[in-house]
Amino acid sequence: MRKSCIHAAYVQTGKSGLAGASMLHAALFTHEQNTGYTMAMNTPNVQKQPINDEPYDVAIIGCGVSGANIARRLAMYRIRVAILEKAADVSFGTSKANSGIVHGGFHHNKKYLKARLELRGNLMFDQLRRELDFPFKRCGIVVAAMHEDEMKSVEQLYTQGVDNGARDIELCSRERLLELEPKLTNDVVGGLYAPGGGIVEPYRFVFALLESAVKNGVQLYTTYKVAAARYEAAFWRISADDGREVRARYAINAAGLFADEVSRIFGGEEFSIKARKGEYFLMDKLSKARPERVIFPAPTPVSKGILVIPTVEGTVLVGPTADDTESKTDYATSTERLEQVLDSGKKMVPSLSRNDVITNFAGLRPFLENDFYIEPSKKTPALVQVAGIQSPGLTASPAIGEYVKDLLKGMGLDLTEKSDFDPLIGERKRAREISPFELDALIAKDPAWGTIVCRCEKVSEAEIIEAIHIGHTTLDGVKYFTRAQMGRCQGGFCAYKIIKIIMRETGLSWHDITKHGGESRLLEAEL
Ligand SMILES: Cc1cc2nc3c(=O)[nH]c(=O)nc-3n(C[C@H](O)[C@H](O)[C@H](O)COP(=O)(O)OP(=O)(O)OC[C@H]3O[C@@H](n4cnc5c(N)ncnc54)[C@H](O)[C@@H]3O)c2cc1C
Repeated sequence: MRKSCIHAAYVQTGKSGLAGASMLHAALFTHEQNTGYTMAMNTPNVQKQPINDEPYDVAIIGCGVSGANIARRLAMYRIRVAILEKAADVSFGTSKANSGIVHGGFHHNKKYLKARLELRGNLMFDQLRRELDFPFKRCGIVVAAMHEDEMKSVEQLYTQGVDNGARDIELCSRERLLELEPKLTNDVVGGLYAPGGGIVEPYRFVFALLESAVKNGVQLYTTYKVAAARYEAAFWRISADDGREVRARYAINAAGLFADEVSRIFGGEEFSIKARKGEYFLMDKLSKARPERVIFPAPTPVSKGILVIPTVEGTVLVGPTADDTESKTDYATSTERLEQVLDSGKKMVPSLSRNDVITNFAGLRPFLENDFYIEPSKKTPALVQVAGIQSPGLTASPAIGEYVKDLLKGMGLDLTEKSDFDPLIGERKRAREISPFELDALIAKDPAWGTIVCRCEKVSEAEIIEAIHIGHTTLDGVKYFTRAQMGRCQGGFCAYKIIKIIMRETGLSWHDITKHGGESRLLEAEL
């Protein structure tokens, strides 16, 4: 196996007893292979790493953006923290499929916890970006009214934003709005501008948070589906469905759509998380309709509406819908709803074209009443509920980490700061972002930089190898880490090459290669 800069991350973590090449893999992801399920996504030559018998202070269930922020926050203190994630990789739940907006602090009334955490979370992004080097841009948000009567709801948003303390929020004339966002239709009558709003690549945000948490001692267990828990002698014994067990003094339920199930497992409060589906179109980087700022329509009483979003990596997202759905695993899209998405988007940005569509997808919001539910359980000891993290959960997530840390302190957890906490993670080179001279220098050191595997997104073999060595051993994991398969061809030309690289670097057979773990096998025979 090749060396990668992740090796440095491992050396500083320095906790595992694994040997040689396996160390790289274990740097961020702790896998076990006692079931066919885990075999399907993990590296066979990683020696089985037993769960450390020493109990943890805190076990976080779920590694979406909430769990990752909580983990990274807790990594600043002299405590032992574990994250238990049921999927093959992190950020494979709601945190992978959303609008990627860092909201501007005007959509929600500050009587709600979600609004207060949104405001605080928004302000925390700049420092996190400096420390963790994930794609984030404060591009600003506009809300566009298409009729005079819509200006009423825009004015209400403005008043709410001012009252919330949203930064430099502005009520705009038609001319001002068109100056701020020339891609808007001439039919616009006025609107609102929130310069503090922004865009972020959500999975890269989670990966970076996790890398930092692990670098500072947090232990991640993937394919760990929490199935049972019992409180005994001041510790939670938290069992996975494959029999593994972790002990911890405190447990955090950050299980997203399944937080109701996890609460039940711990004997906590009874509540029911509903899924609300949001469908999107994704448009090519070459789309002439790409706006400079996030564009919202005037809101309706039930939804923020269909948006046109310039993603931080240069594509355009149009959506999402908002439909309650019975299933928590149904990510299907429908032609009918997608037609509505395109029609609504075109009302604001007429140059949006069906020809630029490269894919469509859906995300599921975990919906519980109208607010986040972040509290110590009143029913069961030493459990913090982090449930109902609907929008603006991504924006609020850094503040959720801080809030949960304070709750734990209030519950008696001794939080002494680490003197050696390192807030930084290494810079990651991307072939598409560097100059030809810099690329030449990298190729001279490692020829894998000279092989472009994904032509659409200009992703080199070296970047794919790095992703795999970190632990992203599924096709989706590699995709979210590198952007390979995210361009116009959606993996049509590069997926098989990536599969071959995964097989070569991990020793997995064709049979074990999956899209996102579990039963999502890709091949019927050897490539
Ligand atoms: C369509 C849509 C658009 C959105 N747009 C935005 C936006 O633009 N801006 C914004 O701020 N917010 C937005 N959001 C909201 C945001 O995406 C969520 O609030 C956030 O991702 C929730 O993160 P989470 O970590 O709480 O949940 P998740 O990301 O779902 O993470 C929960 C994790 O728990 C794991 N898990 C579940 N059960 C178990 C178990 N038994 N054992 C172990 N692990 C388990 C899951 O596998 C998952 O990884 C949007 C949401 C949707 C759906």
